[in-house]
Amino acid sequence: MRVPMTEYLMIDLNSERWLCRVCGHDFGDARDTYKKGTLIYDRNPEEIHPPILDPKRYQYTFSPDPKFCRIYEYYCPTCGTQIETEYVPPNYPPPLTCFGTLTTLKGVGKRSGKTPKPACIMDPVRTPKPICGLSLTKSKERA
Ligand SMILES: [Zn+2]
Repeated sequence: MRVPMTEYLMIDLNSERWLCRVCGHDFGDARDTYKKGTLIYDRNPEEIHPPILDPKRYQYTFSPDPKFCRIYEYYCPTCGTQIETEYVPPNYPPPLTCFGTLTTLKGVGKRSGKTPKPACIMDPVRTPKPICGLSLTKSKERA
């Protein structure tokens, strides 16, 4: 049984592996972080958020300072899909996310006898609309 976890990640509960939802690439043991199986691009934040104000005239330009911030982009090495993006301090190791997910999913499935489902499922191949019952309607304006 394969359970979608994010727009581009799923877990195969039988093999206990992280998989790419686009191409099926195996990112590794689902009891560990999937990030070990990705390609990581350590980006200068100024490339993503260029200064809005003239850096010669202003100290703060609305652009993150690369001495304090880096942007990690995680890619599937087979299909090149960008899996995730994180803002971290320089030289910081990739943060552990989705840790313990497999144990939780298997526990939920065992207790309920039903297929475990993540909080929100996005389909990366077709239209990017949520299929988990959440609506993307605009919030009501206050009277
Ligand atoms: Zn892929």
